[in-house]
Amino acid sequence: MTNPSLLILPGDGIGPEVMAEVRKVIAWMGEKRDLTFDVSEDLVGGAAYDKHGVPLADETMAKAQEVDAVLLGAVGGPAYDDLDFSVKPERGLLRLRKEMDLFANLRPAQCFDALADFSSLKKDIVAGLDIMIVRELTSGVYFGEPRGIHTEGNERVGINTQRYTESEIARIAKSAFELARKRDNRVCSMEKANVMESGILWRDVVTEVHEKDYSDVELSHMYADNGAMQLVRNPKQFDVIVTDNLFGDILSDAAAMLTGSLGMLPSASLGAPMENGRPKALYEPVHGSAPDITGQSKANPIACILSFAMALRYSFDRGEEATMVEQAVEKVLADGARTGDLMGPDGGTPISTSEMGDAIIAALNAA
Ligand code: NAD
Repeated sequence: MTNPSLLILPGDGIGPEVMAEVRKVIAWMGEKRDLTFDVSEDLVGGAAYDKHGVPLADETMAKAQEVDAVLLGAVGGPAYDDLDFSVKPERGLLRLRKEMDLFANLRPAQCFDALADFSSLKKDIVAGLDIMIVRELTSGVYFGEPRGIHTEGNERVGINTQRYTESEIARIAKSAFELARKRDNRVCSMEKANVMESGILWRDVVTEVHEKDYSDVELSHMYADNGAMQLVRNPKQFDVIVTDNLFGDILSDAAAMLTGSLGMLPSASLGAPMENGRPKALYEPVHGSAPDITGQSKANPIACILSFAMALRYSFDRGEEATMVEQAVEKVLADGARTGDLMGPDGGTPISTSEMGDAIIAALNAA
């Protein structure tokens, strides 16, 4: 048996700082759980631009296609703000998503009890929250043609097109149903079938996929505007939410903020299964490169560590180890460990990025 392979792309800003803490968890899995990864590391974003003049070298792209999973830190920063659009750090990330055809973006919104006070909502509404938003990532209005700005008569007109094929809807629906089976077995599909034809097709296809292969999963439908309202009214009613690229962009950001800090939020982007049955996969924290705190040991590594936990669960079928990591995070937070972004109004002394990583390893050892 060969070891599973991981490509690590730390990127820019706090990316390398948080990734150093993930490395500790990866090493721990090898030492304590007989789960050794073949880890390679490469450049993305501004770091790749500095060396190669492009935000993702072709060799790095080729490596990403070969490995079992890619783990990315963050890209971007003020040093690259004035670069041409075609070589901006974010283009490196977009190239990965596009060429790996990562059509399903998974964003869990999970509220750790110890952080329930950080939410802008009342504690009892968010405590224990555990929902998953599955956003279609490679189609819809961000990609549809025709698009552009042109002149009609004496004024300019901006155009974007919402376009979904049946197969695009079916594959994201399947991802959501499969995921629900590993959770609470419920899917809520959100669109605007009341005003958009693409929404009518979305609802039809999700229903067909459900009837054909997933009738054991509970399915409901909701208009996306009502979904936004329900997310802040009673988010715990949901298990898995599946929606298109545009609504998913907005709803997943809203759901993320239910849980407090950006430094806590992991994500996964998955594509079609490879020959070995594992999906193409990219795991990354939701946050960016945080130039305001780069190099100060202030970054919270938990989002990146929880992204690795998602890799354990969704790429490597090691749900037990994923849960161990999540419980270790829960334990250190319950014990009061806080990086600067998690300091409440009462103050206290924040710990550093590496102290947070060490605390999580200590909690893993103690479990
Ligand atoms: P950001 O997420 O980098 O930072 C927003 C705020 O949250 C900052 O105050 C930052 O200090 C804080 N923060 C973020 N992550 C944190 C962590 N782990 N621990 C503690 N605090 C944290 O967003 P931004 O400031 O809008 O963007 C900065 C750069 O990152 C830009 O160049 C942007 O393009 C890029 N960006 C990259 C990604 C990505 O790589 N996926 C995502 C968003 C933004």
